[in-house]
Amino acid sequence: MGSRSSRWPYVRKLAWDRDRKARAPCHICGMAIDYHLDPSSAPDSWEPDHLIPVAKDPERELDLNNILASHMRCNRARGDGTNGENELGKRSRIW
Ligand SMILES: [Zn+2]
Repeated sequence: MGSRSSRWPYVRKLAWDRDRKARAPCHICGMAIDYHLDPSSAPDSWEPDHLIPVAKDPERELDLNNILASHMRCNRARGDGTNGENELGKRSRIW
């Protein structure tokens, strides 16, 4: 499903800048995120998480109010399958 908007990389960057400046903690576990790390480069690095999963509401994919800071580790560990944040779109589960 190549449904990612072409504007996503831009919006993702905006969210990264916003959260890095604010030193926003992970909204899943509440712990600090290491903003010295490149996004999605390590378990403690920043990764954007959609509060309302894109799979549920594609129109909110680019809504910064719907994008929260999370650890890559937390974001990927949730495993509820509703959050297709994995960069390569590896989630190929059939709904
Ligand atoms: Zn976390």
